[in-house]
Amino acid sequence: MYAFAYDKPATLADALQKIATGGQPLAGGQTLIASLKQRLAQPEMLVDLAGVADLAGIRREGSAIVIGAMTRHEAVAGSAEVQQAIPALAALAGGIGDRQVRAMGTLGGSVANNDPAADYPAAVLGLGATVHTSQRQIAADDFFQGMYATALEPGEIITAISFPIPAKAAYAKFRQPASRFALVGVFVAQTAAGVRVAITGAGNGVFRHPGLEAALAGSFSPEAVDGVAIDASELNSDLHASAEYRAQLIKVQTRRAVAQARG
Ligand SMILES: Cc1cc2nc3c(=O)[nH]c(=O)nc-3n(C[C@H](O)[C@H](O)[C@H](O)COP(=O)(O)OP(=O)(O)OC[C@H]3O[C@@H](n4cnc5c(N)ncnc54)[C@H](O)[C@@H]3O)c2cc1C
Repeated sequence: MYAFAYDKPATLADALQKIATGGQPLAGGQTLIASLKQRLAQPEMLVDLAGVADLAGIRREGSAIVIGAMTRHEAVAGSAEVQQAIPALAALAGGIGDRQVRAMGTLGGSVANNDPAADYPAAVLGLGATVHTSQRQIAADDFFQGMYATALEPGEIITAISFPIPAKAAYAKFRQPASRFALVGVFVAQTAAGVRVAITGAGNGVFRHPGLEAALAGSFSPEAVDGVAIDASELNSDLHASAEYRAQLIKVQTRRAVAQARG
């Protein structure tokens, strides 16, 4: 580690002012503290968002569930509101990392970080959610821009995410057993805008699969997945799994997610 300033503002305005002058937002520190230790990030000031009460919380707004950026994974997993409206989202949050990670990790930190194997980006994209920031609202389809890259501009922070309540949805994650991140995770949803399928862990960032979406729009059944070809040429290959293995896992996990969503 090295010397840096630390501040914990109580208002969003104060936090934004400090971030505008070079401070880096700190959520639960689950990624950022490790990055500081490895000197992958060297901010001069950390702006702890935990003091801004308005950034945490879960509420229903019409046909959507709105979750504050600083809401911890365990709060989403344990929320009666989320469990009732979007059980797939509560289950996804409950399957992130371990107890300690869920107690500290946040929705905003996970989505801003956009780890290519993270779970929340699959739900945000799969449900066609809207990312609310300190400056604007960004549709999920425009937000994720590849490995650790998002549409956020310097000084802009996520304040909340609005998840439309789907008719049916489920998330099927095949865990990398050591890290518990997704080797492949598939989020399927029947939404007002049609069937959406978002895949994490398999490529250089979360992505939708038009072939699976078209097949499931025709018939929302596990069998509909069988005839869909998954191109392995742009998938990750590493010591954990080859691209071909990940392609096969996408089909298996999609079938499982659809079966689960149908109940
Ligand atoms: C051991 C371990 C296992 C894990 N397993 C999983 C897993 O299975 N699945 C999974 O999805 N994730 C997993 N994670 C990641 C975890 O879920 C955290 O959400 C993630 O690390 C981000 O942490 P954080 O919310 O504490 O954000 P921080 O680490 O505090 O911040 C992360 C980044 O986001 C920025 N940031 C934070 N909040 C905001 C905001 N509101 N607006 C803009 N930028 C912001 C920070 O500046 C920083 O760059 C794991 C992490 C660990 C350490």
